Amino acid sequence: MNKNMFTSFLIKYGEIGVKGKNRYLFENALMAQIRYALKRIEGEFRVHKAEGRVYVDALSEFDFDEAVGALKCVFGITGICPMMFREDEGFDKLKEEIVDYVRKVHPDREGRTFKVNAKRARKSYPLESMEINALIGELLLEEYPELKVDVHNPDIMLYIEIREKIYIYSQIIPGPGGMPVGTNGKAMLLLSGGIDSPVAGYMIAKRGVKIDAVYFHAPPYTSERAKEKVVELAREVSAYCGPIYLHVVNFTDIQLAIYEKCPHDELTIIMRRYMMKIAEHIARETECLGLVTGESIGQVASQTMASLLVTNEVCTLPVFRPCIGMDKQEIITISENIGTYETSILPYEDCCTIFVAKHPVTKPNLDIIKRHEHNLDEVIDGLMEEALKTEELIIVHK
Ligand code: ATP
Ligand code: MG
Repeated sequence: MNKNMFTSFLIKYGEIGVKGKNRYLFENALMAQIRYALKRIEGEFRVHKAEGRVYVDALSEFDFDEAVGALKCVFGITGICPMMFREDEGFDKLKEEIVDYVRKVHPDREGRTFKVNAKRARKSYPLESMEINALIGELLLEEYPELKVDVHNPDIMLYIEIREKIYIYSQIIPGPGGMPVGTNGKAMLLLSGGIDSPVAGYMIAKRGVKIDAVYFHAPPYTSERAKEKVVELAREVSAYCGPIYLHVVNFTDIQLAIYEKCPHDELTIIMRRYMMKIAEHIARETECLGLVTGESIGQVASQTMASLLVTNEVCTLPVFRPCIGMDKQEIITISENIGTYETSILPYEDCCTIFVAKHPVTKPNLDIIKRHEHNLDEVIDGLMEEALKTEELIIVHK
């Protein structure tokens, strides 16, 4: 197929929740995200709304596959229709172009069915929609006897739209679905270097939620490389959700204090509680409406139902855990599809592995945990304040 013939894309998006005033917000957020996605590829594009639809027009040479790849990262898009558009140079010329179009775009025609779906938006055009359907249908049957007509369930639906110019399209490349980022507030993702949390961020962003992130590192127990890995993961997720404000919090002193003063089998769970507390603090300061983690029930000791209860207890913001019911393999499959897997499996240690106990509690008791946390009373407020004061903000984008 000659992909150079396409100079425009019609963007299809779900109609649910796109009524009234919401429609305009939805479309504007969608166009903003499309522009963001296209900025990272070669070529100049115009993203605009016309006749209540969203179009992407190429204003320069561009790589078709790259453009489709970028559009596939934009939540809210359900279908991407590559379009050929032509000046109106009369019906005979249009016939020639359509014959040519079908030959190039649908080279495998044997035994396939089609239907012509013409729409005359410009009422001054000399032929009515039904006439165009009949004439072009006949023409294609003559030119390509291997094709058959099926008006109910055609393999090829050939759209011809007569507007100022004439649009021809027949393919719908599936988009990612979801809702445009920016239509549903903002959440704070606890992003570690693992497989699960980038997937969790992706899934929440897919519902239209803008994502900020927080990463806890513990130098020198965790390396600069481990931090770079998290920055890279944030960059990969930002391909879908737009720029991410990544808050890097130095967790070393808090971790050491817990290590020194609390039972070792409770280290992870107590650490997790302080991570959530700090994350929530930053979330509130940055107008996030919830926290997001990559937790999945039973995956490790700190993610049993009992552990999740204890972790959750420190938060008042809702905590969203989109991986909660997934098996590891299901999470891996998503991470492969969205392109974060290869980075996630790079071997740099994360801040938990250093301090992991041999036999962490799997059924922590909230009262006991709280009692042991009192061992930190003298130091913890100062340490938390220091951690917040020294946070590093990195703005990450694809
Ligand atoms: P992941 O694959 O996302 O790292 P995991 O299976 O390693 O998850 P845990 O280490 O138990 O699981 O972490 C559970 C969740 O806690 C993570 O998904 C993440 O949201 C959060 N988390 C863990 N460690 C950190 C960290 N160092 N910084 C920020 N968030 C973290
Ligand atoms: Mg982890």
